Amino acid sequence: MAVTKSEPTEILVVGGGYVGMYTALRLQSKLPRGEATITVVDPQPHMTYQPFLPEAAAGSVEPRHVVVPLRKVLRGCRVLNGRVVRVEHAQHAATVETGDGRTEVLSYDLLVMAPGSIARTLPIPGLAEQGISFKTIGEAIYLRNHVLSRLDVAEATLDPAARRKLLTFMVIGGGYAGIEALAELEDMARYACRYYDSIAPQDMRWALVEASGRIMPEVSPAMGAYTVERLTERGIEVFLDTRVTTMEGGTVVLDDGTEFETDTIVWTAGVKANPVLRQTDLPLDGKSRVPCEATLQVVDSPEVFSAGDCAAVPDLTSDDSDATTAPSAQHAVRQAGVLADNVLAYLHGRPLRPYKHAYAGSVASLGLYRGAAEIYGIKLKGLPAWLMHRTYHISRMPTFNRKVRILADWTGALLFRREVVALGQINDPKAEFARATSS
Ligand SMILES: Cc1cc2nc3c(=O)[nH]c(=O)nc-3n(C[C@H](O)[C@H](O)[C@H](O)COP(=O)(O)OP(=O)(O)OC[C@H]3O[C@@H](n4cnc5c(N)ncnc54)[C@H](O)[C@@H]3O)c2cc1C
Repeated sequence: MAVTKSEPTEILVVGGGYVGMYTALRLQSKLPRGEATITVVDPQPHMTYQPFLPEAAAGSVEPRHVVVPLRKVLRGCRVLNGRVVRVEHAQHAATVETGDGRTEVLSYDLLVMAPGSIARTLPIPGLAEQGISFKTIGEAIYLRNHVLSRLDVAEATLDPAARRKLLTFMVIGGGYAGIEALAELEDMARYACRYYDSIAPQDMRWALVEASGRIMPEVSPAMGAYTVERLTERGIEVFLDTRVTTMEGGTVVLDDGTEFETDTIVWTAGVKANPVLRQTDLPLDGKSRVPCEATLQVVDSPEVFSAGDCAAVPDLTSDDSDATTAPSAQHAVRQAGVLADNVLAYLHGRPLRPYKHAYAGSVASLGLYRGAAEIYGIKLKGLPAWLMHRTYHISRMPTFNRKVRILADWTGALLFRREVVALGQINDPKAEFARATSS
């Protein structure tokens, strides 16, 4: 029988993303009333359904509809908006910085570590100033407005060099996040060109830079090559086996000597475990992830569970005994189910079950009506792949409410075509009032 200190048991969930939210949802529905309290800490008041970020950036779905409000769905939990900055597991205590600048120390009996990942960066001059990653709803909204506003400015400028820079867009990193972001944004900008007198789609320059020899490692090399062909057909330049050496001042230099000026650099070159893990006394592996048993308990810490992008979970489907599951929503959501069941089993003294799931494949949207998918070895291209992408993700989108709202967004876009107007003021909302107060 597990030892717990408090009555009721205090369960602390760090992060309200895929793993955190799904774990808390399951625990709140399965735990007998009064047996445990569940606290979910996240700086954001919502879970983000990241696979829909490219569609949110392209304006096919309303950004508010791709997030799930934690307070609305986790009615049986305490939701605390704040950032966990330290965990002293020896003391069973987590330090949280709340939005009002306070520091709160939360004690727990059982801990679920699920703070996910952050963008993996490289020491490239200019990256911090010029680049933006593509992981949050804020970045998706920003990029949509930024790309459309580049078209507005390019239409107005009389300087040909400035115009070329404004109309050059670059994505670095060819995983599914980068490919979908690139394809959806390019598709949106291409569509928007019809509303500009002086900008034709061929005036824009879109480029993808990938350090390895292929894109989308989640699918077979053949599907990766197919996707490259479809992108190049649209005029998108794909640089494989290529690295960026500098991007200072928006002047991008590639290691093959190619050089261009751009105002838009999207960095999607992979993720790494959330660095908050280093502020804990939990064990870490070589990639700074928490090493887990197949039961999703952290090695040597049975009262700590972890999963998702921050965890090194053994991949029991692989012949390689060192293999761990890849950072993906597909694993995160399934791990959350096993994790919640194992927390219950641990509390009730029942045996815990191991996590085992063979990666099913991947679906990617490449803009409206275009996609690439490979599920259980079955390859789909073009429209069928795109329909598969939409069907799969709508079925996975948490809550009936969100599913209906997204379906309504898609139907509206189909009937009335998409909106392609930059709400650029969102990126500088006080500018107008500052002008008013200074005049
Ligand atoms: C654009 C994009 C598209 C994607 N598409 C796909 C796809 O098609 N298929 C697929 O399988 N996967 C996809 N993924 C990957 C997938 O979204 C992630 O693997 C998944 O979200 C991981 O779940 P997680 O719970 O580990 O992390 P997350 O869902 O990122 O959740 C982590 C949570 O922790 C919170 N947090 C961070 N720091 C702290 C802190 N210090 N204290 C408290 N809370 C904290 C964050 O705010 C966040 O809510 C995509 C990712 C991106 C970015």
